[in-house]
Amino acid sequence: MRRSEGYEEKYRSLAAKLAEDGLISPGSLVVPPTSCGKPGCRCQANPPQRHGPYYQWSRAVGGKTVSRRLDPAQAELYPSWIANRRRLEAIVTEMEGLSARAGEIPLCRARGG
Ligand SMILES: [Zn+2]
Repeated sequence: MRRSEGYEEKYRSLAAKLAEDGLISPGSLVVPPTSCGKPGCRCQANPPQRHGPYYQWSRAVGGKTVSRRLDPAQAELYPSWIANRRRLEAIVTEMEGLSARAGEIPLCRARGG
């Protein structure tokens, strides 16, 4: 048996896992404070009229953090999309590690190891 066969099998099972998940989204969800602290804002009134709570989707675009307010329907979808994206990244990292280790095999052979 070739030594790389174990790696190829593991790699294929990781690739199959990639296909299991649905849509993905980068970034993360945050719930901003419902009180902004601006004097005279309705959230400071008595009784206070709070902002939200609502979800805000934040992600890095060209080194800057960009945020967008999500409507309730989007707020239901995004947590699973974000989780899918993180799982996908973890799987790809594992695939890269596996490939790097498999890549060492020809080197060992060249050295007679
Ligand atoms: Zn306010």
